[in-house]
Amino acid sequence: MSLSFPAPAPVLAAMTNGEQFPVRRVFCVGRNYADHAREMGSDPDREPPFFFTAWAEAVVPSGTTIAYPQATNDYQFEVELVVAIGKGGRDIAAAEALKHVHAYGVGLDMTRRDLQGAAKKTGRPWDTGKNVEQSKPLGDMRPAEGFDPGRGAINLTVNGETKQTGDLGDQIWPVADVIAHLSGLWRLEPGDLIYTGTPAGVGPVVPGDVLAARIEGLPGLDIVIGDPA
Ligand code: MN
Repeated sequence: MSLSFPAPAPVLAAMTNGEQFPVRRVFCVGRNYADHAREMGSDPDREPPFFFTAWAEAVVPSGTTIAYPQATNDYQFEVELVVAIGKGGRDIAAAEALKHVHAYGVGLDMTRRDLQGAAKKTGRPWDTGKNVEQSKPLGDMRPAEGFDPGRGAINLTVNGETKQTGDLGDQIWPVADVIAHLSGLWRLEPGDLIYTGTPAGVGPVVPGDVLAARIEGLPGLDIVIGDPA
């Protein structure tokens, strides 16, 4: 057998215990904090969780300088709790869901907000807004055991100035419910990542900005915005 071209290397996410977590797919939850749903102009009380996806290769580690992407003038940050699936399954019951989690980490769901906004207006898919090269940074992850995803401060600073603050306890759909809903749509597999939504305070970045994303009890995620791609 000869490959047509060299196969891409697997995307590996670092863990605090020395493991490398092979990333398979990336799922993201939309509007999972009421205050962010409101700032995006929707009603947080009436919508079940919904999902969009991104390529595994959009995941980059803490310490990366990510290029400001093409085709946007409004590239925005969203700090999020990331859930790493270690045991697959479909139609997982919420009561069993956390047993499928291998690790937790701090992520950023970077978004071309102008393209996302245009897609919303016309009822088109969100891919151009959300699925962007280097747009899903992920800090080192810690093993799931002993971490409670239902509480803990989540925040983000840009150049030392606080932009987003919240608490994991404010999630409309807690992690177990997110896994239950998501596994009713796709069979989850080991290596899948779930970005679980962002609190209020999202905003734009410019080249040179330094982003520090933090969740209580998890390793931090530090990213620099580089020059345009
Ligand atoms: Mn998001």
